[in-house]
Amino acid sequence: MGSAPVSNLVILGFAIALVVLVLFWSSRYGGRGRGRGTSLRRSANAHTTATGQAKKGYPHREQAEARARQLSSRDGAPMNVYRCATCNKWHVGHGR
Ligand SMILES: [Zn+2]
Repeated sequence: MGSAPVSNLVILGFAIALVVLVLFWSSRYGGRGRGRGTSLRRSANAHTTATGQAKKGYPHREQAEARARQLSSRDGAPMNVYRCATCNKWHVGHGR
């Protein structure tokens, strides 16, 4: 009757593997959720506005630059355009 300890070990190993998998999964998922929730990493190439909404994206740089000139002349503040790493389009942002 040596089979009972072996199957216990198999079950124990399976349980440990399951726990490790769940921890790995939740840390990845939780990390991504925190990254999306914080706005501290917003810099010169953000995909979202200060209110957390997705910015208008332009497929071509010329379109974004035309919009930046419009906004600059309206607000009197310098605007810049940048390629977004999130949606791969061009956004208009506040310059320095
Ligand atoms: Zn974007």
